[in-house]
Amino acid sequence: MAEAEQFAAVIVDAPGLGALDYRVPEGMLLAPGDRVIVPLGTRKVPGIVTGLSPVTEVPAKKLRRVAAVLSDTIPLHAEWLALTRFAALYYQRGWGESAVPALPLFMRRAPGVRHESWLKKARAIGPAGGEPGPRPQLNDEQAEACRQVLASGGYVPWVLFGVTGSGKTEVYLHLIEETLVRDPEAQVLLMVPEINLTPQLEARVRARFPDELVVAMHSDFPDGERARSWLAVHEGRARVLVGTRMSIFASFRKLALVIVDEEHDTSFKAGDGLRFSGRDLAVWRAWKNRCPVILGSATPSIETWAKVRKGDYKLLTLTKRASAEATLPAIRLVNPNRKGARTLLTPDAAAAMEATLKAGRQVLVFLNRRGYAPVLSCPSCGWVSTCRRCSTFTVFHKGAKRLVCHHCGWQTGIPPACPKCGDPDILPKGTGTERIEEELAVRFPDRRVLRIDRDSVSTRHEAEEAFRRVHAGEVDILVGTQMVAKGHDFANVGLVVVLNPDAQMLSPATRAREQLFATLMQVAGRAGRAGAQGEVLIQTRFQDDPLFAALARQDYVAFADAVLEDRRANMAVPYVHQAMLYAEAKSLAEAEFFLTEAVEIGMREAPPEVRIYDPVPMPLMRLMNVERAQLLVEADERPALQAFLARWRQSLRARAGVEWTMEVDPLEA
Ligand code: ADP
Ligand code: ZN
Ligand code: ZN
Repeated sequence: MAEAEQFAAVIVDAPGLGALDYRVPEGMLLAPGDRVIVPLGTRKVPGIVTGLSPVTEVPAKKLRRVAAVLSDTIPLHAEWLALTRFAALYYQRGWGESAVPALPLFMRRAPGVRHESWLKKARAIGPAGGEPGPRPQLNDEQAEACRQVLASGGYVPWVLFGVTGSGKTEVYLHLIEETLVRDPEAQVLLMVPEINLTPQLEARVRARFPDELVVAMHSDFPDGERARSWLAVHEGRARVLVGTRMSIFASFRKLALVIVDEEHDTSFKAGDGLRFSGRDLAVWRAWKNRCPVILGSATPSIETWAKVRKGDYKLLTLTKRASAEATLPAIRLVNPNRKGARTLLTPDAAAAMEATLKAGRQVLVFLNRRGYAPVLSCPSCGWVSTCRRCSTFTVFHKGAKRLVCHHCGWQTGIPPACPKCGDPDILPKGTGTERIEEELAVRFPDRRVLRIDRDSVSTRHEAEEAFRRVHAGEVDILVGTQMVAKGHDFANVGLVVVLNPDAQMLSPATRAREQLFATLMQVAGRAGRAGAQGEVLIQTRFQDDPLFAALARQDYVAFADAVLEDRRANMAVPYVHQAMLYAEAKSLAEAEFFLTEAVEIGMREAPPEVRIYDPVPMPLMRLMNVERAQLLVEADERPALQAFLARWRQSLRARAGVEWTMEVDPLEA
């Protein structure tokens, strides 16, 4: 008797497509979660089997056959399929659009001749071995936090709230250890922000568990390396995965604990593609796996804090720095405005630096802007240097003798005179790290100054070398951007000087203040990590702002509660739910025309509780010669918003010349 025919539902990475039915060739054995190659139009594309059925509604002559099955490993797990399906529904994409790109390229290709030998090598990575690193005795607060998490069963979202150095990482390590010991099959996901210090944390985890396989995943990994980690987690050989936001899409055999370190960090949100939040999906995944999730931060995001206040998330607090000698730094505010001032450093800051350096300690000068000056301008006619492709200024880089667009990378030489009126005295306006570096070299000629930003260190290797020099004491004054603010444990920094946070104070963006607060807490955390108390000196005109009062007391709770109060009064996030529709076209008029139509369609479909705002140009209106506009959609209740978006998306067909995309929970609205 002939075998009964079988049809496979297959998802592929193509916009707007649901699962497609394919005929399963006789003799091919398939299971849900198998990766396959299928014909699509004139191409052969990778796909994932989501179901098998003896019947199909597709007419026989339209049915095509599965071309190949990639049988190099076990099928994708049901939980992974559920995750990608949820992510697609939530972020308003096709299932295939969320699932297929989440696989390493290697797992999407038909096996070539070297596939087998590669697999053999990939499967041969062994735990590092050796003696486990030193483990401090947990203090009372750490022990209590661990006890609570371990005593709770099933899904519980925890917020581990504690300043830098309060011992959060030790708590993670302890929880990981308990989880691995309790169940020999259990796996742990430790997510970290997209920053250069992840190798440090990875090394710390490896050192603690020398007998377990600990693998990593970062966006700058070559695909082969990513595939190797991916496979080790998928097959259950790796017990711990340390990775950036992409690691949320790893396929686990038995996920038993999820940790998101620095959960407030904006790098957990993807800026393109699915535009997912790795942090939010981490919470979903813990819920699905009935396991605890730990969101760790010194400055939890306002969304997370709102959930703590509402009682949805449980709070664990570490109030003091863990190692006995370390104390919190003192914070001092200094007004930068002085009559006839020629320098960026105030006399107070210079004196504090002098004293710190004399005491044999290092100084960190923080300014979140690279280059020499944000713009070059003409005092006679008002000309300013702008990008030819974007609606923005070009930044003056003195060392490189270039004007550079920080959005698209377009560059040009320095004009000898104003291109508009010919005045030869064009001047840099504003301050970047290069300029402050120059001033410091003049002010402290005998001190060794090192600048760390994306211009001075562009590769991971250069960054490691720069940080090594700081740690080795080969540097007296360190000047840096965001790159130095995060995580790095500088044992000998006695003073942090913060220049010009005021630019961000004045930003209209919803989250500007909370992000500034988080950054300042982080830089402040660089001072006085070991030994004597450190000092933080902030040059700001807004000395009376409650933000600084809260910062001086290191009082995140007061700050966050005030922000929440304000948001509630103004019906802003997180008390409303938002989505953005973006359109890109050759002209702004085309982009806005599309959005205007989208508003009309939306108005017909939207229930009364969904609010649709007028289209506006994006803050960076032109990027690489593409004009961009956006429109905001808002609702008090999430289900109403999600249901509307799903319907609206079907009605918005791609139009010639207009590219559009949706973003759910945008960070900037
Ligand atoms: P965080 O992750 O909150 O920044 P860490 O866990 O990295 O804090 O701890 C900061 C420093 O204090 C590290 O050097 C760590 O080894 C040390 N430390 C953490 N917990 C303890 C403890 N209970 N006793 C002594 N030292 C500790
Ligand atoms: Zn001019
Ligand atoms: Zn540009």
